[in-house]
Amino acid sequence: MKLFFTAFLCLLAYVGLAQSHSHALGRAIRFPDIAGYKTLKCDLHQHTVFSDGSVWPDIRVMEALMDSLDVISLTEHLEYQPHKDDIPHPDRNRSFELAKKEAKDHQLLIVHGSEITRRMPPGHCNAIFIKDANLLLVKDSLEVFQKANEQGAFVFWNHPHWISQRRDGVATLTDFHKILITQKLLHGIEIVNEHTYSDEALQIALDHNLTLMGTSDIHGLIDWEFGIPKGGHRPITLVLAKERSEEAIRQALFDRKTVVYFKDMLIGRPAELMPIIETSIQIKQVSYIGKSDVLRIQIENRSSMPFMLQNKSSYRLHTSGDLITLQPGSQNFIEVKTLKRLNQLELSWEVLNAVTAPQTHPRHSMRISVPDTATQ
Ligand code: ZN
Repeated sequence: MKLFFTAFLCLLAYVGLAQSHSHALGRAIRFPDIAGYKTLKCDLHQHTVFSDGSVWPDIRVMEALMDSLDVISLTEHLEYQPHKDDIPHPDRNRSFELAKKEAKDHQLLIVHGSEITRRMPPGHCNAIFIKDANLLLVKDSLEVFQKANEQGAFVFWNHPHWISQRRDGVATLTDFHKILITQKLLHGIEIVNEHTYSDEALQIALDHNLTLMGTSDIHGLIDWEFGIPKGGHRPITLVLAKERSEEAIRQALFDRKTVVYFKDMLIGRPAELMPIIETSIQIKQVSYIGKSDVLRIQIENRSSMPFMLQNKSSYRLHTSGDLITLQPGSQNFIEVKTLKRLNQLELSWEVLNAVTAPQTHPRHSMRISVPDTATQ
C-alpha cells in the first residue's frame, strides 16, 4: 500500500511537471484560420510591475500560453511608475526583454510596446512595434507620437470611453485626436477595454478608417479578472495576417484586418468578420429523418465561442424556436421542416452575438446540399 502511495505521488509530480512545461490546461481560445490568412489571437495591452501591474512579466507569458494566444505586448505606462521606489526602472525596455526571454521556447510572439499616458487630450495611447521605449520619454504630447511613428510604431487610442477621462462614458474625438489621425500618427482605437465596450468608439473607427482593437488591459491576474475557471475569457483582437511573423502582423494592423472578441461576441467590419464566422460554422451531415420531410443537419462550430443565431429563412425549425446556439464542437443538430424533400436549400441567420456597426448584426447564409440518397 505504501509503495502504491509513493508511486501515486510520483505520478502526481510527473503530471505537475508535464503541465508546467506545456502550459496546456484546456482553456484555449480557438478560431480557425481563414482562406489566405492566419487568424492570430492577440492581447496587445497589458501591464506588469514595471508600471502599475501586480505581476512579473513571465506570468503574462504563462497566462498567454494557457489561453493559447499568438501575440502579446506588455505596454507599461511611460509616465506612470508607481512601483519605482521598489523596482527602479532606468531602462524602459526591461519588461519586453524579460517576456521575450520567457517566451523563447514557445510559439508566442512578444511585441515591444509602451503606453503613452497623458491627460485628455490625448489620454492614453499604446505604441506597439517600437524599437526603444526610452526614446519616447519626451514632454510634448505631439512629439511623443512623432517619435513613436519614427520607430515604425502602430499607435492606438486606449479606452476612449474611460469614465475617469470621459465622465459620460461616451467616446468622443477631440481636435487633438483629429490632428493625430490627419497626420497619420494614430492608426487604431480600442472599442473594447477590459470589461467595457463602446459603440461610439466603433462608429469613430468606421468614420475615420481606424483599426478596431480589443484588449484586456490586465493589471492583476487574467484568471481572476475574467473568471476563466467559470468559463470566461479575456478580450482579444483577432489579427488576420498573411503569416505568423512580426512584420505580417504589423502590416495587418495597418491594413485594419482585425476582429475583436469580447464576452463571447465578435465585432468587426464585414470583410474580416464574415470569413471568420463562415469558416467557424461547418455543415457536417445532412439527412431526412426516416420517411419524413424533416431535415436533420449536423453543424460543427470550430471556434471556442458559442454562436447565437436567429432564423431568418422561410423554413421553420422542428426542435427549437427561431433562436439557436451553436456550442463549440460538432454536437449541434438542427431539424428543418422543408415540407417536401429537397436537394438544395438555403438557410439564413442573423448572428446575434456578432456586430458590424453599432446595433447591427450580420446575416449568415448556409447553402445546404442534401445527398441524393436522402431525398428518396
Ligand atoms: Zn493600460
